[in-house]
Amino acid sequence: MPFKALHLHPSLVQATHEMGYKSPTPIQAQAIPVILAGRDLIATAQTGTGKTAAFLLPVLHQLLHLPRGVTRALVITPTRELAQQIDDVCLGLAYHTPLKRGLLVGGAPMGSQEKALRSGAELIVATPGRLLDHMRHSQVRFDQLHTLILDEADRMMDMGFLPDLKRIIARLPARKQTLLFSATMPPVIVRLTKDILRDPAMIQVGHRSAPAVGITQAAYPVAESLKTTLLRHLLRHMDMPSVLVFTRTKSSAKSLARAISADGFAVAELHGNLTQPQRNRAMEGFRSGAFQVMVATNIAARGLDVDHITHVISLDVPTVPDDYVHRIGRTARAEAEGDAFILVAPSDEKSFAQIERHIGQRLPRITLPDFDYNQRGPEKRDKPGRHRGQTKQQQQPSQKKRGPQQHSGPGRSGNGDPSRKSHSRRRPER
Ligand code: AMP
Repeated sequence: MPFKALHLHPSLVQATHEMGYKSPTPIQAQAIPVILAGRDLIATAQTGTGKTAAFLLPVLHQLLHLPRGVTRALVITPTRELAQQIDDVCLGLAYHTPLKRGLLVGGAPMGSQEKALRSGAELIVATPGRLLDHMRHSQVRFDQLHTLILDEADRMMDMGFLPDLKRIIARLPARKQTLLFSATMPPVIVRLTKDILRDPAMIQVGHRSAPAVGITQAAYPVAESLKTTLLRHLLRHMDMPSVLVFTRTKSSAKSLARAISADGFAVAELHGNLTQPQRNRAMEGFRSGAFQVMVATNIAARGLDVDHITHVISLDVPTVPDDYVHRIGRTARAEAEGDAFILVAPSDEKSFAQIERHIGQRLPRITLPDFDYNQRGPEKRDKPGRHRGQTKQQQQPSQKKRGPQQHSGPGRSGNGDPSRKSHSRRRPER
């Protein structure tokens, strides 16, 4: 089915062609008619399924048929990077329209954002904290609001935005339509939907905990004290054009980035200790390919869309299994392929078993024949994290080093060895 069949404004259809979208993704094919019909919507969709355009296209279509010069659509999303990304997609899709956009995120001056509001931006993308600041301190008004979109609603809850969100919604006037997008539906979101949506249509695309198709996953068992050394070994010995590495803490992201940079790699770091200009530079450099590696905390786990990421490597094992699914969703975007590796220390095994249960598969364990698993770890830079439910004792790196022979080799897993596979990737044409 072509985009034209969805009865979108011709200027939007033209933009989809120019952005290389050949036909609507399943979430787009299902959500766009519902939104155009004016219904409220709850959509649950896997990462990387094209959900940004699924709400932007019909909303822009509606805006084209409404009087201009006043804010009629408001998108709220949890992080500045996601807000920026939605704004970028909007720039592309609205390219042939006269519609104006505004971006309200923290870390940037309020003044220029107020100007965008005053100049009559029809569509605003905002993070909750900054939006509230504007609502409290300036004249921002949404009395002509037509559509409210809550993107990554579950993530906003995780990040503790529920009180802000309730305050924002209480200040918004009645609107015609509310759209809620979420990767998961925890009870707190279900309650929120009851409060703010009217007879919503429900769309679910993909099993909610299923990793995106096209991701080859593998686990690398290794002592906690050797994780950094193993990562550096992988970087040196494998073809990894664009790598996103996750660590648990901001300080470990920082020290790891320093270590990788000392090996001669172009590295960016992304975590909450950086200023917004630093975060922007990191994202832009990683997106453009100037940085081959980005080391990030979970701040980058959701929604980030950099289509050339070939590898996602988790140095820690998330204690919340969904976080793992979101992390690995940063690769294999839009039908491409990618590898997701996770480094598993003996003390991580419990959390890792939960992840395997959650995704319904056992990952192949890889041990590298040319890596010395018995070497001494580097001087300790960073305390390994204590996971929920772990004792201090469990937290210590195991003294008993594992030899390669203790783990099933990739051949036995039946899934092949992702570390040996060539990295020719299928990319959507653009
Ligand atoms: P999202 O889930 O919105 O982050 O989108 C994931 C990726 O899919 C982005 O790189 C989009 O540019 C891309 N994309 C969105 N819609 C389509 C489409 N209909 N055809 C091909 N790629 C798409």
